[in-house]
Amino acid sequence: MLKKLLNECRFSLQITTSGPLLVKSGYATPYGPDMTPVLTYRNNKEQVFIPGSSLKGVFRSHVEKVIRTLNEPAVCVLFDNTSCNTKLQDMKERLKRESRELTNETAYDQSCPACRLFGSMFFIGRVSIGDAYLTENADVTRYTEDRDGVGIDRFSGGAAQGAKFELKVIRAGVSFETDVYLRNFEIWQLGALMLVLQDMEDGLIRIGSGRSRGLGDVRGNVSQVDVQYIRPAITGKSAGEIWGLGRFLNGDDSYGTRSDDVLTLTEAPAHIARGIRDIQRFSEDSLINLKESAVGHFVQRVQGWE
Ligand SMILES: [Zn+2]
Repeated sequence: MLKKLLNECRFSLQITTSGPLLVKSGYATPYGPDMTPVLTYRNNKEQVFIPGSSLKGVFRSHVEKVIRTLNEPAVCVLFDNTSCNTKLQDMKERLKRESRELTNETAYDQSCPACRLFGSMFFIGRVSIGDAYLTENADVTRYTEDRDGVGIDRFSGGAAQGAKFELKVIRAGVSFETDVYLRNFEIWQLGALMLVLQDMEDGLIRIGSGRSRGLGDVRGNVSQVDVQYIRPAITGKSAGEIWGLGRFLNGDDSYGTRSDDVLTLTEAPAHIARGIRDIQRFSEDSLINLKESAVGHFVQRVQGWE
């Protein structure tokens, strides 16, 4: 959908472990610990990393949880027969019988906020997150430690008999960094992302495996957020405004967006002109201001979601 790039928000997210972190490799190894952090070769060294897909899953479940708290029926339950995927599949088949097609606009319009932001079987999400790599170039053995875990019986939830396994975890105090992008976003989606940021900075979001057993405490940190546009597309925009997708669509509500999709900030952020691009750069006070305003917009929009 939307082959044009209308707006884009990007930032570097630093994640520092404040306790042991376990990121499952997703497959059983015939040797060594039963569950190990994900490894890759980078700069000729074996290194641990946090897959972007795993972070995206964490972001999504956190946003879903918050939306459910604000307005329970607004968000679908994935893999449930009332999910957006099921609903859109039914709609697609119905339209097909009438020799019509399900358009990207309708798919987006008919999707719940979580699917609109993170994607579904019908379109890719607005958010993309890269793999998070160590901020320092170092040997993996300095960053991991072995732990004993007690095997959990998958049926009873109790300790399985004789099942003791070893865990290789990433130690506390290890920092990773990744790039986060949000493209062609509605303002409330920017707010959802800023909310995840705030909660990560406050240590409220755990990542990796074994979260219920106390693993995965992290702190997030972002020092700068850029919002950029292609200049000719934003004629008439004032320096303190952020334009969302609905504002660009200019009265065309086929995506289910609103024409007043604009965030007006009390203070204009730093402005950078680079070639054809226009960048709003948020840091320190202007970043705090952005988070507060965007999160407020998100809460309002989600509470009123039909
Ligand atoms: Zn959905």
